[in-house]
This record gives sequence, C-alpha cells and structure tokens, in this order.
Amino acid sequence: EAARRVALRCENVNRWFGGLHALKGPDLAIFQGEIFGLVGPNGSGKTTLVNTVTGFYPPQKGRVFLFDEQINGLPPYRIAQKGVARTFQNVALFRGLTVLDNILVGRHIHMRPSALATLGYWWWAKKEEVAHRAKVEDVINLLQLEDVRDEPVDVIPLGLQKRVELARALAAEPRLLVLDEPMAGMNQEEKEYMVRFILDAHEDLGLTILMIEHHMDVVTSICHRVAVFNDGVKIAEGPPRETINDPAVVAAYIGA
Ligand code: ADP
Repeated sequence: EAARRVALRCENVNRWFGGLHALKGPDLAIFQGEIFGLVGPNGSGKTTLVNTVTGFYPPQKGRVFLFDEQINGLPPYRIAQKGVARTFQNVALFRGLTVLDNILVGRHIHMRPSALATLGYWWWAKKEEVAHRAKVEDVINLLQLEDVRDEPVDVIPLGLQKRVELARALAAEPRLLVLDEPMAGMNQEEKEYMVRFILDAHEDLGLTILMIEHHMDVVTSICHRVAVFNDGVKIAEGPPRETINDPAVVAAYIGA
C-alpha cells in the first residue's frame, strides 16, 4: 500500500484552563482524504482539541502539523490562510447579511488587499472578483442553496443556516475542513441532507475532514476512522463501528 500523506498531526497536545487539565496530551494523525470523527462524552476535550488545531486556544504543550508544517502558535487567521476552515457548534453567521454575502466572506482569506485597485489596476481587481464570485457560485450549486441565496441568513431555518456555514467553509477551498457538530439541533431530514452534502463535498473536492459528531448513526455511516476522547485523553481509535462498541468506550459513556 502506498504511503498516505498525513494531513493533520497532533503530538502530545496539552491545554489547561486554570487548574483544569482539559487536554492531556493526545496524539492524532489524520490522513489526506479521510473523514475522521471525534467522539466522546460532554466535556471530554473534543472542542478544545479543535480549538488547538485552529489556533483559538493554542496548545500550551505539544505540537500541531498541517501537511508537515508546524502550525501551533500561529494566530487563527494565519492557520485559516494555510488551509484550515471550520464551522462552529453554534451557528456563527453574519446576521443581516444574505446567504450569498456570508459565503463570500469565506473567500476573504484569498483576497489580496485592494492595493492593486488603488494603484489603478481596476481590471485586475475586477478579474479577481469575478473569480471569487465564480467559486462562490460553485459552492452554492454544490450545496443546493440557489433558492435562498438572496435571503438574509436570519430568516432561514437552522438546518439551512448550518448548510450556509458549511458553504462558507468550503468557499475558502480548505485543505482541512473542521466541523464542530454539523448536525446539532437538526431534525432527521435535515441530518440526512447534511450527511449527503458532506459526502458530496468530500467526494467532489477530495477534502480531508475532521468532525466532532454526537450522532452515532452519522459517525458509523460517514467516518472512515474515529478517535474517542474521555477526560482529555484518547481512549480508543479505529474504524467507527468497532471503536464505539469497545468496552472502554461504552464504559466512558456510562460514566463507569
Ligand atoms: P467537549 O467538546 O468534549 O464537550 P470541551 O473541549 O468543550 O469538551 O471541554 C473540555 C473541558 O474543558 C471541560 O471541562 C470544559 O468545561 C473545559 N473548558 C473548555 N473550554 C473552556 C474555557 N474557555 N474556559 C474554561 N474551561 C473550559
């Protein structure tokens, strides 16, 4: 088997909040093209891990690599520019802006300062803007958001808002997509749509995805591998079905 490239590597990442040791040095390696699930009881450190990867709470000990480049210690916007896009557990969209404009925000990390335009190269700036708009249109089509593109995000249902957040992340053309509970608060039908769109995006764009997910049916149907966290420690890792049925994992959920 050909060696697979590691898209994300976490080595001994540690994070404290005051006296609380939230992440106790787990190691992770996520391969390029993989859909990797993070599961575990509430408070086990999943979001904290995501925040160390995306730079919101850099690890106080340990290292994070994106395609072999060390990224821990960089501010979130630099990590985003290096190709990590994320969504949030609670929808974080710009209220009052339309769906289209919210997705366009995802392009900003690729937009050069308007210095070129200021210097009179308006034709160049125009060309760039057209390219950004085209990319956004691709994402709107992929996630079937055509019907709501001009609606303010406030007025559309939660399930669609989460889809807009996914669209904004995809518009950034990430090398690593990080999803924090993409199905939270969704009904069954919305969940099924979201699963479909994540799989479509994964297939069309050849994405690597790290996702926190509570719904075990979702985890077993779309993740290639999972890691289970408990109390800041990785207690199991492997193919989803076997891993979530591991006795140690079952015990962690019961709180034994
Ligand atoms: P999970 O995502 O698995 O539910 P978290 O990573 O959110 O778990 O939380 C892990 C632990 O760290 C919890 O005990 C939580 O209360 C604590 N924690 C997380 N973020 C903060 C913070 N910003 N300040 C203080 N404690 C935090």
